[in-house]
Order: sequence, then structure tokens, then C-alpha cells
Amino acid sequence: MSLAAQIPESPLWHAADAPALSARYGADSARALADALTDPAFGDVAVVSSFGAESAVLLHMVSQIRRDVPVLFVETGWLFPETLRYAEDLSAHLRLSDVRWLHPDQATLDAKDPKRLRWSYDPDGCCEIRKVEPLDRGLQPFNLWVSGRKSHQNRARAQLSLFETQDKRLKLNPLHDWTNDKLRDYAATHQLPPHPLVADGYPSIGCSPCTSRVQPGEDPRAGRWRGWDKSECGIHKAPDADHEPVF
Ligand code: SF4
Repeated sequence: MSLAAQIPESPLWHAADAPALSARYGADSARALADALTDPAFGDVAVVSSFGAESAVLLHMVSQIRRDVPVLFVETGWLFPETLRYAEDLSAHLRLSDVRWLHPDQATLDAKDPKRLRWSYDPDGCCEIRKVEPLDRGLQPFNLWVSGRKSHQNRARAQLSLFETQDKRLKLNPLHDWTNDKLRDYAATHQLPPHPLVADGYPSIGCSPCTSRVQPGEDPRAGRWRGWDKSECGIHKAPDADHEPVF
């Protein structure tokens, strides 16, 4: 049966769709990405990027298929100046034509983070208003989003699959099984410009108050929220459950 025949008119994805699609594509994540970006059966698609340490690889792959795909970038108000410049430079280098900078809602910031110190005592709450809510808003028109997460990044991501569902949207992780060496080789082969902070000891780059240098042998994301029992910003929630609620 064709993919289109399996998908309802207005694609609302269900938990069982993710393992079925992961099995359908197997190890061919490049074809999954090409289909997701070009086959209307998948619905409206966006790429989500932090323009961080490893973002160039996925964005280059995307640019080889469709330069006009919407790329959602959450500018939290706390990103390093180097990241903002890199977002502009890399977008221009790859000739991405629809990079959307998403910002936190100013009224929400005025009410919940008026002194810009929420990161220091409530990082979950800070991420909620500065990352999760703006991305949720930006994702509203889309049925599928492409993420650059990899399973080697930390233990929480070890079980990452090619496809997931979250909030009835499909999420594609085309780099889920890529190793550091494969990422490095791809970036070298395509002469991709690195994020300027990588050479300064930052293998994973988020907001400036919550990102520190990583020592040799540490988990690449060890510098994120150091000292807190927190390893994710909250935009990647647990995949939808297998069962549908009964009302
Ligand atoms: S990473 Fe830090 S500064 Fe950025 S939104 Fe989360 S808590 Fe706030």
C-alpha cells in the first residue's frame, strides 16, 4: 500500500505510526528525510535547529533536498552572540530561504521573568517560557518536524528511533544512529563551517548562562545545566503513548 493511502486527509499522527515508519525505512534515514521533505503525504514539514555545535550536518542534508523548507530556530534571548552570527552565516552559506526566528512572548517574559534571572533558580520554568512555548507556537502549522538529535549524545537519548510521535505530530530523527566520527567526516567532506565555540571547548551549545565547557572524557552534553538534575530543555517530550484515550 502506498504511503499516501495509509495517511488520513489531515495527517494527525498516532503512536503506532512511528514504529511502522521506522521499520519501513530501516537504516535508510537519507531516504526517510528525502521523502519527509518532498512527499505531500507526510503533510507540512519543518526542520527544528538550534544552530548549535552539530547543526550544520542536518541543515546541509536538508539544503541538498529543499532549500525552502521552513527551519525553526528558537532565539531564547540568552543565546551566545556567536550562535546568532552563526545562524545568519550558516543560513546564508547553505542558501536556506525560510529560516524562522522564534522569540519568547514578551508579555510572558514580563510576567514570569522580569529580572531575567529565572534560569538561576528555575531552569525548567525558564526553558518552558523561552524555548518550549515559542517552539510549540512555531510548530502549530506543521504535521512533521525534523530534529538533529543523536542517540550517542547522552543516556536519555540512547533509545532514539528514526521516527517518533509527539503531540500528534511526527518527528523524524535522521541522525539518530550517527556517530561522532560520521558527523565529523560528513562536515569535513562538505567543508561545513563549524560553530565558532566548538574549538573553544563547547561540544554542545545552548543558552549562555546554562552552557559550560566540557572536559576530556565527559559526556558531550555535560556542560549543559551543569549542577542541575536536568539534561533536556523540554521541547522533546516523551513520545505519544501507544494507546489513545477513551472518552
Ligand atoms: S537553557 Fe537556560 S537560559 Fe536558556 S531557556 Fe533554558 S534555563 Fe533559560
